[in-house]
Formats: sequence, structure tokens, C-alpha cells
Amino acid sequence: MSERLKKMRLHHDTRFPNVRTIKTRSHSRDDCFFHGLPSEVFHMILDLLSVVEMSVLCTVSKKFCGFIMDYIDTFSWRKKHIFRDFHPPSCTERRQNFKHYRDIGLLFKKCTMLLPTKKRLRYVFRKFSVVPCLMYAQCCVPNCTGFACLGVFLQTLLAGWSGEEIQKVFFFLCEQTGMFSRIESSFSGKQGARELTEIQLRNFCRNVFLNHWSDQKEYQFWLVELLNPWPLVVQAQLLFILFGPLMPDGTVGWREPVETLLTNNCLWDLAKAILHLFSHSGVKGCTTGSVLAIVEELVGIPHRWEDENIARLLILCGRNICYTILVNKLLSGRLAEMSRCLVFIVLVCEKECYHMNWAAKLVHQICKVITPVSQRFKFIEQLELMFSEVTKEMFESAILGNNPDDDDTLDSLQILDSIARFHTRFLFMFIEY
Ligand SMILES: [Zn+2]
Repeated sequence: MSERLKKMRLHHDTRFPNVRTIKTRSHSRDDCFFHGLPSEVFHMILDLLSVVEMSVLCTVSKKFCGFIMDYIDTFSWRKKHIFRDFHPPSCTERRQNFKHYRDIGLLFKKCTMLLPTKKRLRYVFRKFSVVPCLMYAQCCVPNCTGFACLGVFLQTLLAGWSGEEIQKVFFFLCEQTGMFSRIESSFSGKQGARELTEIQLRNFCRNVFLNHWSDQKEYQFWLVELLNPWPLVVQAQLLFILFGPLMPDGTVGWREPVETLLTNNCLWDLAKAILHLFSHSGVKGCTTGSVLAIVEELVGIPHRWEDENIARLLILCGRNICYTILVNKLLSGRLAEMSRCLVFIVLVCEKECYHMNWAAKLVHQICKVITPVSQRFKFIEQLELMFSEVTKEMFESAILGNNPDDDDTLDSLQILDSIARFHTRFLFMFIEY
């Protein structure tokens, strides 16, 4: 040690004999200043800190982590921080709840970082098991924010964890909630009980596993984990339960796509889920082929959907997915089905005032796939005949309805406009190129 430093230390020690020198974590337990304090006094000090400040304190040493874990095990801490009003009337309070649970996620992440994953999860979720709003199927209030808070908590806790560890979390939560048996029972059982199971499943899975991931990859990971253990038919049904249209009473509207014409809003969630699956197809259990098969199953639940609803869903999925699904129909010899789908895509474009160039380019793109070139004539002929067939169907329906103001008459007029606009664009494409 240099002479100057020795002098400084001597000077320091003689002037302030009672000041403790800085110790490292390797010093013995008895040397810790806080260890000498009664736990009540130490808890009073911790009580003055915010949740985030406590999480920073956890990084000081293993000993501090232990102190803080002891503190958050107390009933008074849980009462203050875990129990919240999960049914707040205002958006501001809802946002405060989310922020609070994000902070709690950070604290639990820090204080349990030295525990093995399973022990860590058991410690964390034991804290929540006394709050009905955070437990599966324990709270029936429609706008309860409990699951959304749990989702925000989970997102913070799992930040930076490996895929393997996150998968352990998924299985842990499935085990805790009896998720797999609940999914099974949502496909059996009596109608009334099934409706409740379906909506509980939807609320839990969307709020806890899916809604909070802004990162597409994370969202897709959880979605694939949810779907993967099941056969394709069940995967399609599960997608419908999670993202399908709802009835006014809040139950899943199984018959809505079969019996009514749906708006974009009703189908948007399903389209987004399909987009997520397609955008990361190629990962474990999620190939383009399997996603195509799921979509085929989906539009047949519980019976084949209205053509317009199928077309609307495909348009919402975007050009690439729409093209892939239509070409798949073409290559599997379902030319008539594909043509019918295209006619309704043209109709939806007209109804929603989308640029008809979109549909014209799609047909042009599909034409290019067909070889030999002579077969393209057959495709165009089939498409034109389908325009004629669908127009006739709509006129017949309008005549049978015998009401000049009803929707069928409007549809039959709109299909004429859509045909004119589509053909103008399609023909112009050949002049342009
Ligand atoms: Zn609640």
C-alpha cells in the first residue's frame, strides 16, 4: 500500500473511529449491519421503499435477497401489494394496476433469480393463489383485470429467459390450472357448462399468455404451445374459441359465420392469429401445410361458413396468405371452390371500397402458377362462369325474398358493380404490362 494511502486511512480512522468500513459479500453473516436489526425494524425500513427499489436491493447480495424474500412472505406485504382492486372503474386505475404488476414481476424476477425454475415458479405462484381474480375460473366479473395483470407480471418475469425455461413455465401453468383437461371438456359436456368453460379459457389464454407480447415471435411461441398438443381439428376449434366472433351475451358465436354476414371487426382477431402462425411457420409443430389445414378446418366450423365470411377472412389475412390458400385449393384440384372464393373476394372488395387492383393482381398472380398456358384458359373460363352462377344465385334469392329493399337485392346489385370494376382492372393489367 502506498504511503499516501496509509496516511489517508490513518487520518480517516482516527477522526471517525465509529464509522464502519465497506465490507464485501464474502464477509461473515454476523458482520451484516441489517442482520443485527430486529426483523420488525428491518421490515419497517423496507416498507418505506417502492417495489422497484426493493428489486434493486435484491441485486446487492444473496443475503439481501433472503431478507427481502422473508419480507414479501409476510401477510402485511401481500395484503399491500398482491391484493388490488381488480375491477377498477377507470382506465387510469387499470393502467396503475398493470404498472404495479409489472413492478412486482421485476421484484420477483430479482429476488428469485438464484432458485431453480420449478422452485421459483412455485414460490411466485403460491403468492397469487389466495387472490380469486388471479386464479383460473374463480372470478366471474366480466371486466376483471386480474388475468391481464398476471399477463403483464409474467411478461416481466420471463424477459430474457430461454425458450426451454419458458416452456417449463407454460407446462407449470397448464398443470396449475388444469388447462389440458379444461380444453378437453370445452369440446364435450353440456351446452351451458361448455359455454362457460369456453369463455373462461378464452379470457385466461388471451390475457395471460398472448395479449401482452408486442414481439411477434413471443406471441407466436405461446400460440403454438397452446395449439401444438392437439390434432388439427381441435386446433381449429381452439382457435375459434380463442379468437372467433362473440355473441352479444359474451359467449362464443359458433353459428355466426354460418348464419350471418360478419363484419371485419368480428373476424379480425382470427385473421391476426392466422397471420402469426403463417409468419413463423417452419418452427416446431407449425408448418405451412399444418396452418393451411387448420384454416380449411376453421372455415368448416361448425358447418361451412358463408362464402362472403370466408372471403373476408382471407382478405384480412393479407395477399400472401390469401394467395397461398387459393393456390393450395387450385393444386389440390378444387378449381370450382377456388373460383367461388375469388368471386366473393371481388364482392367484398367492392363492398368495403378496397381498390379492385388488389383482387385483379391476385388473380393475375394465380394465373402465373397454372401450367401449361392452355390450362389458364380453363381457369379464366371457370372464374367467369362462377361470376355468372353467383349472380344468378343472388337474383334468385332476391326474387324469393320478394322484398326489393332487402340485403339480397343489394348484394345482387353490388356483384354486378364488382364484376364491372374487377374486369376493368384485370383487362387494364394486360394493356399496362
Ligand atoms: Zn376479478
